Amino acid sequence: MQEIKIHNWILEVDVEKTYEQYKTAKWDLCDCTNCLNYYEAMGQTTQEQEELFKKLGIIPSKCVHLSEYGPFEKKLHLYNGCYHIVGKIKEGKPVDTSSWNDENTADINGFSFVFSNDLDFVPGSFPRPVLQMDFTVSIPWIIKEPYGQ
Ligand SMILES: [Zn+2]
Repeated sequence: MQEIKIHNWILEVDVEKTYEQYKTAKWDLCDCTNCLNYYEAMGQTTQEQEELFKKLGIIPSKCVHLSEYGPFEKKLHLYNGCYHIVGKIKEGKPVDTSSWNDENTADINGFSFVFSNDLDFVPGSFPRPVLQMDFTVSIPWIIKEPYGQ
């Protein structure tokens, strides 16, 4: 386990094991256009966002749970979802999606996230202990297929 400090949290994370899961595990990924747009967009993250995912072992275009709302302002689509990480919170409060505020939420170039104790949609093969990152992000529609189909 590696210790990683992010925002108000100190995490203990097994980066290699996490990355191994994202890289090789066969997860049931949704193939609707909303999700396909997200996978595609997360292949083009900013450098700071890329560093965050790398640090945690996450491949952001592989996401087992997404909800899409939009389009809103500037034609951006709002997505909520979660990623799982092999690890746990060592210091700092877990934050439930219902109790987000400016103080307890981290943000990297519009990718807002918390680490929570909730465990939803964890792939069956995922090694324990599991840590959940809940996030929200607004991204443009970038795939050829039109929205709403
Ligand atoms: Zn979908």
